[in-house]
Amino acid sequence: MPGFELFGEEERKHINDVMDTGIIMRYGFDGPRKGVYKSIELEKKITETFGCGYAQLTSSGTAALTTAMSALNIGFGDEVIIPAFTFVASFEAVLSVGAIPVLVDIDETLTLSPDAVKAAITPKTKCVMPVHMCGSMADLDALKAICKEHELILLEDACQAIGGTYKGKALGTIGDAGTFSFDFVKTITCGEGGVVMTNNKDVYTKCDGYTDHGHDHLGVDRGADLHPFIGYNYRISELHAAIGLAQIGKLQTILSIQKRNNHILKSYLQQIPEITFRAVPDAEGDNCSFISWFLPTDTLMHATITEMKEEGIFAGNFYWFSNNWHYIRKWQHLKYVHTLNNISEAQKVALYKFQTQDFSASDAIMSRCISTSISLAWTEEQVHEKGAKMAAAIKKAIANESVIA
Ligand SMILES: *Cc1c(COP(=O)(O)O)cnc(C)c1O
Repeated sequence: MPGFELFGEEERKHINDVMDTGIIMRYGFDGPRKGVYKSIELEKKITETFGCGYAQLTSSGTAALTTAMSALNIGFGDEVIIPAFTFVASFEAVLSVGAIPVLVDIDETLTLSPDAVKAAITPKTKCVMPVHMCGSMADLDALKAICKEHELILLEDACQAIGGTYKGKALGTIGDAGTFSFDFVKTITCGEGGVVMTNNKDVYTKCDGYTDHGHDHLGVDRGADLHPFIGYNYRISELHAAIGLAQIGKLQTILSIQKRNNHILKSYLQQIPEITFRAVPDAEGDNCSFISWFLPTDTLMHATITEMKEEGIFAGNFYWFSNNWHYIRKWQHLKYVHTLNNISEAQKVALYKFQTQDFSASDAIMSRCISTSISLAWTEEQVHEKGAKMAAAIKKAIANESVIA
């Protein structure tokens, strides 16, 4: 998964370019910065690499989602449909613009179930936000069709799927807008950072102003800029963009190592007939940062986890069902509205409903699922070793369970 595993001289060089001028802010100071514009350069690289019209860098992936929603006119009282399996940032962003997160079931793609989305649509629904979890994608054709029929906005949270594609197009560039996160553990990192991608110039222009206190960036200097609307500060710094520039240069290398390691490891798991894999709507487009796999029952999965822990080989495996940050089950702060300040009545009512909402369809999938993260640091030999050990532990757990049964 993480690009930080390949940090080297390139990151240092770009950082030094910035430090040589001392201008670590992305706007203004045109004289002293001596032509060094890392953020602008990175935005250009993003549009070229992922094939989108416009890119606006932000201070984080969460800020990118908030920015995209504001630019797409999603706000107070609007409902945004999101999956029950995601990172907390997805609902945080929805809440931050005053909108209402509507959590629905996932299917074996580990992303939004199109049927669950259809069932959740109300007159207040404004946006469908698929989250391309763990490097692979939602069924975008089905979701696009739903959005078209009901005139809804499609906003892709592609924060975990940098470099993934769907039918030849980069994830994050297919909806009305899409976002990446460049936080420390993402496929490529800035340390902290994010981006909104869109093909709509008006949406881009709004993102540009929104992330910088509403500056229209049309004045002769910053003081002369006008403020056509209220914005906030979600700017990225030049130091973060510098790291990102080095990292985007390594993207193809990162993806090819991930693919190699992923396929070797998967070949061991495939030898176990009880294992099935996540449904991938376009197999070519998986960014290969994880292998997500299922066992037939949660009992068997628990036995397998225990066995892998005993063997000391569980690190790097994620059992999301019990995870505090990625699945509805442990989001007590959301279900019981543990906010620091008052939020709208409509938001409160919607959040309290999660206490009793039936997520059994998602539970039935998540309780049998593990995602194994793929390291860039593994040598081919090490992946073979890991694969053999993992397969042995899983087989042992399965054998033991069948004796008990
Ligand atoms: C990482 C992540 C985010 C938010 O990114 P930050 O840069 O950490 O704010 C949003 N959604 C998903 C699915 C993520 O994994």
